[in-house]
Amino acid sequence: MPIKQINTADLLFRNPPRPIGGPPSSGVTRSGTVSQTTSTKGEIKNNPMAKSISGGGPNATRLREALTQLGYREKGIEIDNGGDISTNMTDACISVFKKIKELHPTYKIIVSGGNDFYHHQLGYISRHTTGNAMDFVVHPHEDHDLDNVVNILRGFAKGLNPNFRFIDEYRHLTSAGTGNHFHMSWGKGTEGQASLTEALNNSPVSYNMT
Ligand SMILES: [Zn+2]
Repeated sequence: MPIKQINTADLLFRNPPRPIGGPPSSGVTRSGTVSQTTSTKGEIKNNPMAKSISGGGPNATRLREALTQLGYREKGIEIDNGGDISTNMTDACISVFKKIKELHPTYKIIVSGGNDFYHHQLGYISRHTTGNAMDFVVHPHEDHDLDNVVNILRGFAKGLNPNFRFIDEYRHLTSAGTGNHFHMSWGKGTEGQASLTEALNNSPVSYNMT
């Protein structure tokens, strides 16, 4: 499959059916949707080793240590079973998660995707496959909870402008369909430009790396 550069978010439904590989009739379609009829509870049947091995890179290790300290979790080995994550993304993630813990200590955070095997199977380069994107979910996730997290992400977008980007994929569905999560990424470009502009104009707070 030819490599195609995209600037948008991963645009993909991530929770929970994630059939990868298998017969041509299953899995991810060209439109980026995922067939639920072939769901195997998110397990990768044709290459289980690829999903089960952490790269053991220094940044993924650092993020995992921070998650443990904060009492947060990782879904599977999704942070780095496709390769290590970038230093900047790691620093930004740790800063965001610390701020969530500080302001909303009862929230539960699960990191659900980073430089993961799944994104490497999609046939195009994204910020995930370069270690510059991270997805997470929050519990609970009523609207006011999501608003609380968005306010924090807006603060980081403003403080780390122009590199910190985010997309609220709980409520701002992208054209190809998404799952319920927050997407964060690092780097200039068009990704998350709308939320960055909104944050620069309206966020009352500005956060930096901690
Ligand atoms: Zn993402």
